Formats: sequence, structure tokens, C-alpha cells
Amino acid sequence: MTQQQQIESLQHCLQIPSVNPLDGERDAATFVYDYLTTHEIETEWIEVAPKRICLIATLPASEIAAEPKIIGFSGHLDTVPVQTTGWTKQPFGGEISDGRIYGRGASDMKSGVMAMVNAMIELKDCADRPNHLKLLITSDEENGMTGAKHLTERGDADDLDALLITEPTSGMIGYAQKGVIGIEVTCVGKGAHSSAPQLGKNAIDDLYRVIREVKSDRFTITDNRHPELGPVVASITSIQGGEGPNVIPSNASFYMDIRTIPGFGRLEILEAFAHIEQRLLQEDPTFAMTLRVIKEIPSCETDANAPFLETVARHMETITGHPARRVAIPGGTDGAMFSQANRSFPIAVASFHDFRLAHQVDESIPLSEYLQTIALCKQLALEPLA
Ligand SMILES: [Zn+2]
Repeated sequence: MTQQQQIESLQHCLQIPSVNPLDGERDAATFVYDYLTTHEIETEWIEVAPKRICLIATLPASEIAAEPKIIGFSGHLDTVPVQTTGWTKQPFGGEISDGRIYGRGASDMKSGVMAMVNAMIELKDCADRPNHLKLLITSDEENGMTGAKHLTERGDADDLDALLITEPTSGMIGYAQKGVIGIEVTCVGKGAHSSAPQLGKNAIDDLYRVIREVKSDRFTITDNRHPELGPVVASITSIQGGEGPNVIPSNASFYMDIRTIPGFGRLEILEAFAHIEQRLLQEDPTFAMTLRVIKEIPSCETDANAPFLETVARHMETITGHPARRVAIPGGTDGAMFSQANRSFPIAVASFHDFRLAHQVDESIPLSEYLQTIALCKQLALEPLA
């Protein structure tokens, strides 16, 4: 495997649009599946939904390895959409110019995926592999992480001893991330003619009372904070209610988007709303409110000084000569879903790929960062996992 081949494979991958939620994820997965299997890496094709494909590639430790552990590698093949104006390069051209490779997904994160894929192919010819390697390639990371969720529910992460996710981090190591809870709060009243409101129960009035509680000092969920990730943040982002201009509304609801931190999630939020319900029921025994969790992405955190993160940091430093900073990352990654596996393991989110152009026009990274990330994956794989 030459560097030229490694670069060409990334170009090919960038030339296949896999914009989420459009149709190309299957084509990108087909390309990677064929590339891995052509190089005799055992790869499983997992159809999460007709257009949502995950792949799991495995490379066992050498027979002489003593008590090999399992290192997981993971990345996603879907990308965000392309801006209709502003690109000076073809978004699906895979063009190389002045040492940079361009295209949607160059940063986030086809370079990360192809770095792991090419590292695995190179390691296949290595006579002494101390660890088992398991590459989990996911779909739909950008929209709901349903690929990683599916793999986690199947138990595919239950045997991992450590996990590297090569999202673009510009040479830093992400060890913690916020989660998301989307909750719908509905008040149920009773419809009536608006000329006789006393015959009904106004659900919008009741919802207003809930909102007043949420905005009061008694609603303390946003007092919780993480030293690196900052506070829990909660916002009402939509509101609905009413059946007509002359009808007392029987139904009203709002949606609240809550960004959570480790140690504060679904349970604590439901508890906070239960307190609101109790207070309002004391004022009005006919008050009725229901809660529905619409979206849930857990927060997660690995000890910043965990041995696996120390190992990743040491290899990153030998490759660049600079220390690798541990950081809490503002966005979510598939690590959130994999952290829900039946067994806990350290998760490092790290690559050399520049994140500054992720999701932007002219998304690109220096090719040198791609080759450095391949080296990182190989070095990690070749050190017996502690
Ligand atoms: Zn990403």
C-alpha cells in the first residue's frame, strides 16, 4: 500500500456524495466495503434501514499475541449538505491543491474513516499484531446517530476495551461531550365554545402556567454545570396549541431542547418536570400534563487521565512533536451512543484533521494531517493495550 493509493482511496470516497438525509450513504458504504474486502479484511454489511448502512471490519491479533484486547475504531460516512453558493472547488471532486484535499467530508469525517481503513489494511501484513481491531463505520451520525445506536443495541460495542473516534479535532483529544434531551410537554384541557369558557378547560392557559414555572427560579436544572462543558442549557424552541379561533383549546404543547452534561440527564429532567406538575396540581386538582421524550443523545465522559488517553496523547506527540491537549468537545459524536454499551471503556475522540472547515464551504484539510492520522491508528494498534 503506497501513500498514493491511500490518498486516491480518500479522493474516491469524497467523490461519492453521502449527504444526510439524501440517498448516497449506501454508495459510500459500498465503496468502503469493496475496498476493505478487496484487501481481504473481513467486513460485515449491516442494513440499519434501506439507505442507512453500517460496516464492521475486523482484524484479529496475531496468533502469538498474549491475551489480546479489542481496540475499536469508529467514524461515520454521512456528511452535512453542501451550501449552494460559496464553493470555489467541486464539493464532490476530491481535488488536491497546494497539499490540501477538498470536498464535503474532507474534515468531517471521510478522512478519518479512510485513515482507519487504510491503517487496518497496512496492519494486515504485519506479523505481530498485539490487539484485535474492530472498525465500526456508522451511518446517520449527523442527524440522529441511528447507526451507532443500532450497533450499540446489537451489542457490537460490548466487547470493546477502548475506542478511538477519528472526528476532526485538530490534534486535540476529546474526552467529554454534552448530550441532548428533546422533551415535549403537553397540557390537556377540555374544548368548549369560546362564548362559554367556563364549560371547558383552557389548555393554553395551563401551558402558560408550566412555562412560568420553567422560567422561575424554582426550575433549577440550568444551575448544574460541568467544569469543562459548562452549564446545562435549556430552551423552549417551539410551541403549538388550539383548534380554532372560537374554540377553547383542549390541547397545547411546547418542545424544549436541553443540552445535558455527565451526571445530569433524562432522569433528573423528568424529576424537575414532576415537581412542576405537583405544584400545579396543588393549585388546581384538574391540571393535566404529559411528557414525551422525543430525542435523547446521552452525554459522555472518559477520565481525561485514563491510560488509553495517555497512550493516544503519547503517540500524537511522537508524530507531531507537540503535546496533545485534552478537551471537552462542544458537539456530539457517536461516542455518546457507544458509551451506552453493556460495558464501559475509555473513548478518545482524536485525529489530526483540522476541524475549522467542517460543515463549511471549501471543506478541506492538509493531506499531511491525513497521513499523520493513518500513522496514529497504526501506532495505537501496534502497542499492546494496557
Ligand atoms: Zn462528524
